[in-house]
Amino acid sequence: MKKILVSTCLYGGEPVRYDGKSKALEAPVFLKWKEEGRLIPICPEVFGGLPVPRVDAQRQGDRVVTRDGTDVTAEYSAGACEAVRLAAEGGVVCALLKEKSPSCGSTYIYDGRFDGTLTEGEGLTAELLRKAGIEVFSENQLDKISRLIEDLQETDI
Ligand code: SF4
Repeated sequence: MKKILVSTCLYGGEPVRYDGKSKALEAPVFLKWKEEGRLIPICPEVFGGLPVPRVDAQRQGDRVVTRDGTDVTAEYSAGACEAVRLAAEGGVVCALLKEKSPSCGSTYIYDGRFDGTLTEGEGLTAELLRKAGIEVFSENQLDKISRLIEDLQETDI
């Protein structure tokens, strides 16, 4: 079966977000993938050793910095590396990651000024996965993932 790497906060279960809230997806196609065992949940920020809840952070160029000014680039980078390792180990066909996150955002992220402004860009994990050749989609692109899986014309699903 072709697997999909997914942000744990979209997958559901134990809270992992900075604010301790859930963003679990309930779209029928997503629940079907979950039921099939097609999803591999990952939370790069927890992998990097950060607690739940935690101070929110944003990308500032190649760095990731919390609202109170702490540089957490090392933790975010470590989590991104672990996500890439798990993607390779699981042989995933793509990743479905939470938009706007400094780790998982794939189209838009906050611009680093902590005033709610979004800018085009990607989180560290999305960036590293793409560099590793893995397609990354957001929760707004479930249709694209469906088409990708259909196009693979699997025989083992
Ligand atoms: S790092 Fe990714 S999976 Fe973890 S809480 Fe943030 S958006 Fe969700």
